[in-house]
Amino acid sequence: AQEEELFAELHPRSAELAEQARGPLLAGVPMPWMTRWPGRFPLFFESASGARLTDVDGVEYVDLCLGDTGAMTGHALPQVTEALTARASRGITTMLPSADAIWVGEELARRFGLPSWQLAMSATDANRFVLRFARHLTGRPRIAVMDWCYHGTVDETLAVLDPSTGSGQAGRVVPRPGALGPQVDVAETTAVVPFNDLDALDRRLAVGDVACLLMEPALTNIGIVLPEPGYLEGVREVTRRHGVLLVNDETHTLCAGPGGATVAWGLDPDMVVVGKPIGGGIPCAAYGLSAELAERLSGPMLGHEIDVAGVGGTLTGNALALAAIRATLSTCLREEDFAVAVPLAEGFAAGVAGVIADHGLPWHVQRLGCRAEYWFCPPPRDGAAAAAAVDEELEGLLHLWCLNRGVLLTPFHNMALFSPHHTVADVDRHTEVFGQAVAALTSG
Ligand code: PLP
Repeated sequence: AQEEELFAELHPRSAELAEQARGPLLAGVPMPWMTRWPGRFPLFFESASGARLTDVDGVEYVDLCLGDTGAMTGHALPQVTEALTARASRGITTMLPSADAIWVGEELARRFGLPSWQLAMSATDANRFVLRFARHLTGRPRIAVMDWCYHGTVDETLAVLDPSTGSGQAGRVVPRPGALGPQVDVAETTAVVPFNDLDALDRRLAVGDVACLLMEPALTNIGIVLPEPGYLEGVREVTRRHGVLLVNDETHTLCAGPGGATVAWGLDPDMVVVGKPIGGGIPCAAYGLSAELAERLSGPMLGHEIDVAGVGGTLTGNALALAAIRATLSTCLREEDFAVAVPLAEGFAAGVAGVIADHGLPWHVQRLGCRAEYWFCPPPRDGAAAAAAVDEELEGLLHLWCLNRGVLLTPFHNMALFSPHHTVADVDRHTEVFGQAVAALTSG
């Protein structure tokens, strides 16, 4: 309650705007996830630059959320905003490609080792298209995902194994708890398998009705759950053996390096989806296809033998998005940028681990590239175990404490993301306030 009071005291202008916003906006926000921040009302932000965010009350934060990876490269970088301004003044949406499209396709092909690319408006959008292509190519009706995955608001992916059947069991497929519904009948559209369980995957794919497996190489949306040694190689072997296309959704795991986990771990998927960070904050995403899939699609598309209704969209591949991706990939998200950001995430993890050790807590830290987060238990092995370990109340308390002291974590999970624009002093600031929060909590 004390922290809630402090929050209200620090943010009178946000309080006013939040009150006004309740009139015209559903739940007072333009997008539902914005209700998930700690504090009595959402903060309204005024500006963001590099690794800093300033709210409408003039309070400045070290931003460790970075738009939940949408601004992973840092906010309002001059080289990106200049490219955007130059492009916007020459027109954006025409239904014709701009020359930047070629640069973007070539760069994505070089990075991910897949030769053929398409644009989308968001990672959700890209995933929908990928699933559609996979069904078209295989003639199979169903898609497979990992238990407790998140791939955006794609209906068929909002599915879990019935939690009442227990972790790792071949349970019924049911809608993800909390997802607005009813959605599609996920029991009909979706196969769900536990992460890190090759036998379960093998058994499920052997049924022969699955077009593709859409997965993150490490789960990130239920906290970081890393693959066990040999698991991802096994996934490739099993999917290939059953004629199932393998899609790596690298929207978050791009934190592992310039070519995401696909390149960092030497993976060999049939398709890759990249979203949020590639456009420096501008809405866009892209998906790449293997040479074999591209060959099977490209000719029929050009020859009008495939009706492409159901993929693409009017604003998709617009010139602003392409300019944003070009500016971002050519000046950020490069090897040298990760060389700065990753040690900062390592520093965050070491700082948190130190506090945990000092207090003798059973908590643990996980890290993937420039992203790190902590668990209130030993690292879970799969999504169901991870979901069971989430403690939203404790999470909320820690986040509010940090927010009140100028450190912004994501509103979900204990995730911190580092760009090359953060500093060692930012890491130390987090360690300090996190240490104070834990001391306050453990002293009752
Ligand atoms: N895929 C993954 C792995 C994600 O984490 C997300 C969002 O968090 C998405 C897809 C959807 O991205 P967007 O909300 O930008 O459509």
